Amino acid sequence: MGKKLVVANWKMHGNLAENKLLFQAYIDQLSSLKNTDVVVCVPYPYLAQAQSMLQNTNIAWGAQNLSKDAVGAHTGEVSAAMIKDFGASYVIIGHSERATAYCESDENIATKFVQAQAHGLIPILCVGETLIEREAGVMQMVVGKQLDTIINTYGAAVFANSVVSYEPIWAIGTGLAASSDQAQSMHEFIRGKVAVLDKTAATSMKILYGGSVNPQNAVQLFAMQDIDGGLIGKCSLNAQEFERICCAA
Ligand code: PGA
Repeated sequence: MGKKLVVANWKMHGNLAENKLLFQAYIDQLSSLKNTDVVVCVPYPYLAQAQSMLQNTNIAWGAQNLSKDAVGAHTGEVSAAMIKDFGASYVIIGHSERATAYCESDENIATKFVQAQAHGLIPILCVGETLIEREAGVMQMVVGKQLDTIINTYGAAVFANSVVSYEPIWAIGTGLAASSDQAQSMHEFIRGKVAVLDKTAATSMKILYGGSVNPQNAVQLFAMQDIDGGLIGKCSLNAQEFERICCAA
């Protein structure tokens, strides 16, 4: 499956002074990492700082959202081209914190996915079910539907070289990660769903797990066959913990 990928999602944390220290700690601790690609997704205003500190390092950077539109009268929105302007290579799409708080529809998320690719950004598409949906046993149906919106509109080939992050909503920020078996089983489902339609895309896509990953559970999670790495929230704000997670990959 190639190199593992570990993505930091700083969410709405940081400021210029704090970020400077955290970027530097990442650089110091991760420079000798060989088998893992690392990306840090920062709030929009800090893309320039990420670019100036991380260029010429082995750490890539990205944004946490983008506009579904390319350009125009969309006050407050940030386009894929603008993100690309700051040297970013990745963008998180459809994170559940956005999907719930800002009512992002699957259709919008699908548009953002192809908008990112059209501008040379690698989309990190977040999918996942609520606790009620898991308890009802419909988690595959829910995640399948999230993927179908993209597949039905744009085809499965768009998943080539993209990233899907399985993030059960009940595991995000709760300290209660999915077990490695629960995660593996969903990852296998996701890859299988794409593989039926496009084998090449299914092999080249990376499927990350996100939701309360920490240095302890990372080892087991990342050892699973279809888990290609992780999307890390809380523990990415601590360089030591983040480094241990990267080393587990
Ligand atoms: P967490 O967040 O690691 O704090 O659970 C993960 C995410 O929301 O991407």
